Amino acid sequence: MSITAPRQLFVTTALPYANGPFHIGHIMEYIQADIWVRFQRMQGHTVHFVGADDAHGAPIMIAAEKAGVTAQAFVATIAAGRKAYLDGFHIAFDNWSSTDSPENHGLSQEIYRRLRDDAGLITTRSVEQFFDPVKGMFLPDRYIKGICPNCSAPDQYGDACEQCSAVYAPTDLKNPYSTLTGATPVMKSSEHYFFKLSDQKCVDFLRGWALDDARLQPEVANKAREWLDAKPASEATDATDAEASAPQRSSGLGDWDISRDAPYFGIEIPDAPGKYFYVWLDAPIGYLASLKNYFDRTGRDYDAFMADPGTEQYHFIGKDITYFHTLFWPAMLKFSGMKVPDNIFVHGFITVSGEKMSKSRGTGISPLRYLDIGMNPEWLRYYIAAKLSAKVEDIDFNPEDFVARVNSDLIGKYINIASRAAGFIAKKFDGIVATDWAKPSDAFLCNLREAATPIAALYDKREYGKALRLIMDQADAVNAYVDANKPWELAKDPARSAALQEVCSRLLEAFRILTVYLKPVLPALAVKIEALLNIAPLQWADAGIPLPHGHRVNGYTHLMTRADAKMLEQLFEPPAAIDAQAGVAALATVAKAAGAASAQITSVNPVMPGVAEAPGAEIGIDDFAKVDLRIATIVDCQAVEGSDKLLRLTLDAGEGRLRNVFSGIKSAYRPEELIGKMTIMVANLAPRKMKFGISEGMVLAASAADEKAIPGIYILTPWPGAVPGMRVR
Ligand SMILES: [Zn+2]
Repeated sequence: MSITAPRQLFVTTALPYANGPFHIGHIMEYIQADIWVRFQRMQGHTVHFVGADDAHGAPIMIAAEKAGVTAQAFVATIAAGRKAYLDGFHIAFDNWSSTDSPENHGLSQEIYRRLRDDAGLITTRSVEQFFDPVKGMFLPDRYIKGICPNCSAPDQYGDACEQCSAVYAPTDLKNPYSTLTGATPVMKSSEHYFFKLSDQKCVDFLRGWALDDARLQPEVANKAREWLDAKPASEATDATDAEASAPQRSSGLGDWDISRDAPYFGIEIPDAPGKYFYVWLDAPIGYLASLKNYFDRTGRDYDAFMADPGTEQYHFIGKDITYFHTLFWPAMLKFSGMKVPDNIFVHGFITVSGEKMSKSRGTGISPLRYLDIGMNPEWLRYYIAAKLSAKVEDIDFNPEDFVARVNSDLIGKYINIASRAAGFIAKKFDGIVATDWAKPSDAFLCNLREAATPIAALYDKREYGKALRLIMDQADAVNAYVDANKPWELAKDPARSAALQEVCSRLLEAFRILTVYLKPVLPALAVKIEALLNIAPLQWADAGIPLPHGHRVNGYTHLMTRADAKMLEQLFEPPAAIDAQAGVAALATVAKAAGAASAQITSVNPVMPGVAEAPGAEIGIDDFAKVDLRIATIVDCQAVEGSDKLLRLTLDAGEGRLRNVFSGIKSAYRPEELIGKMTIMVANLAPRKMKFGISEGMVLAASAADEKAIPGIYILTPWPGAVPGMRVR
């Protein structure tokens, strides 16, 4: 294995937009980056791995407004949900921050000032755009709809037609209207700020950075070359962020519109009242801001670290945001005198059973549901790693393939080695391994150790699929040794006790080395195995350092269960993907409905016979705290065929999955009355199997003590501003 001086790395993943919970695509990217980070750390390198929520922009501002909360509160609610996912899948970020942080406000304004004053790369120009006269704001393309100019389909978005796929400008739409107010937008001009990406010094720099030294992945470099060489008329942008308008290009690269007019949730542009940075300007600066936040918090020197020429900076991103990361981002950093990224690692998308995932709906896999039903997060880490390469290609999650791969590789080839050997060592030899290694029969161990170098090279290049194939080839060789030596037969003959101890010791050593190689992918399992083997946390170099003779291991404990096809069925059972847009619409409905109701303070109501009953037995706060009450949105509600009492509610309690709950309220509500309303749910009630299916909770409703005399059931609903997932306490 090669010994290199320790490196210092700064690694990020793309910042997720804070308008919804993580979907499986986020988790895939985090797993890819986390494996790389863990691998580099095992090499002895120092890695700072940070993330943050991308908090700004019109979509969040509008969603928060619809939900009746401030943008900050909206983002905070989303951010509060992140930890369950990150911890759940063993994603070990050192820091998680937000682009609305003070650090990001400061850094964004500083970078802008340097681009303006030192580099002379900021200019202004008047831009005509659709303006909603009712709302008093300029409309991003996604908030304009109208009739497609090409095929006349109604209700098409301002940038492209979903019916005929035509691409056009919002001004081409027939009968355009604002989706916010329904008003007919008017053209209005305003002064916008531009980053002069078309400036020759930007173009020259980017040609060098992106094309000259085989830095980028070949597909990414080709794309960058297309963009750099594009003729003025061509539409070569790959920027698919819903709010991202195609950059206007005067030459190969167009100047980039970096301003938005108030009202906008973002960072104010210095010396430009009423103007804010377009969210895509401050989002990548959020990488630096999160690092700075982390360094300040932990007493490190951010400026010294970023000024050190030895510092390496890498960003893992999805292919849809390549344009921003290979052109705007390096140019912004370069011409503000900041450190330029060493590389951008681009991955493809994840499909589920061949189905492309939809941006608003995620895919059929809810990461939280995956965890909730007890699926092992390391199965997913392994499966995704086995499919990943250094190429920008999509990978597919296939349930049958998942079960087969996890069971055959992890259980059949890997865990089995320990289960065959560790029990005998513990029971028959008091946990002592005998390691007299100088035998020709150790060829499989020599080969296994020598694989450390090629496997490391593959991890470093992000060729995880190839690395895992190499590791499993080695595991096959170890299993061949098991079959040739049959420890279970040696164990039957007391005269062959020494042979049994030797064979099992070799197997534990082989298992230890395999664990070194798999540790970046299976970090929690590695910790269990380190405890089993009674050894210090494994580093990469430990592959070459055998267990010492006479070392004592601990008794075998269960390490990993097989993946069960039934669990995969459960994973896909309900349409689990949360629909963020529907959720927001539901919030809006509730906020409006609640706003219309007026509350009046009157005198104390007299006791009404038949309504109130005597209070129940007194309980302490601890008893109450056992009941986990959550705010939930009723995203769907249907009558239950064959039941005259029950409605079937589909609840979103901010868990990234939906719950099915039956409620005996059919006499009081029509299903359509409840859709979009918020209510309060008992979240930790044991699931009940009912005739019509499983009920995963209970909604709260009030009724009179004497229901016959005073009929009526009243669902509880929270005060506006509450959002799904909040706990009632
Ligand atoms: Zn059309």
